[in-house]
Amino acid sequence: MGLDSLPPLRDVISAHGLQAKKSLGQNFLLDQNITDKIVRLCGVPEGLNVVEIGPGPGGLTRSLLRSPAAGVWAVEADSRAVAALGDLKNAAAGRLHILEGDALAVDVRDLCPTPRAVIANLPYNIATPLLLGWLQHLYEDHGAYEFLALMFQKEVAQRICAAPSGKAYGRLAVIAQWLCEAKILVDLPPSVFTPPPKVRSAVVKLVPRRLPADSPPFAAVERVTALAFQGRRKMVRSSLGAYEAHFEGAGIDPQARAENLSVAQYIRLAQLGSDPVS
Ligand code: SAM
Repeated sequence: MGLDSLPPLRDVISAHGLQAKKSLGQNFLLDQNITDKIVRLCGVPEGLNVVEIGPGPGGLTRSLLRSPAAGVWAVEADSRAVAALGDLKNAAAGRLHILEGDALAVDVRDLCPTPRAVIANLPYNIATPLLLGWLQHLYEDHGAYEFLALMFQKEVAQRICAAPSGKAYGRLAVIAQWLCEAKILVDLPPSVFTPPPKVRSAVVKLVPRRLPADSPPFAAVERVTALAFQGRRKMVRSSLGAYEAHFEGAGIDPQARAENLSVAQYIRLAQLGSDPVS
């Protein structure tokens, strides 16, 4: 059986009793036009090794396998889905590799060599910790991923891409935009998923930036943003009092609020105050 003669995804789901489980964040994409569009918008160059988290019944996986990617390395926690992917694996002629397990416990850099990207319709309950883990990998080595193209709840996608001063701007925006250029590729209504989630969804593409050699430690950026956004409307001279000696060096007005500082100001502050005196 070739990739073009596979049974419809709805038949695969019923043959394997793959009724969606909420606890596993299962909202499946069954329309090939949508999954093909996502893959087209991501831009998959020839020879790319793609990591997919949560292939489920394999809709997005089919589209990835029809792209010029060298192969797909899929991590799936649900053994029913792993069984349901059997025919697709056979049809993929060695280009689909499946690991059954918890994506939070897997270092996806060990799955396949570079050039590598993660493309996934993520389980929403673990999407943010997964993203933070991959961003940390990019901090360690900006070549770890060519890009990350990830489906989130739209509200999370907006938090990743938010500009200063808006209500979505916070820790996630600062950390993600420090390490990557982030933009929303496509915004999708609940009706394209089975079962439909309660909220809209969006795919974010994150392309790594090359960091200067004197960049602050990842933990220092986590620390300063955690402190700042505990009180996003407070003046930074109170929320970031421990960093006050560095405000001038970072070009920060002590009366500004956390939500008004730019990504560059946070990074400069983290760099100057890696060891704040508290
Ligand atoms: N990619 C499929 C699609 O687009 O139709 C399914 C996406 S669904 C939103 C999320 C998938 O992640 C499900 O297949 C679910 O079983 C899987 N999943 C949930 N938690 C997981 C975990 N901790 N590790 C790996 N996969 C997980």
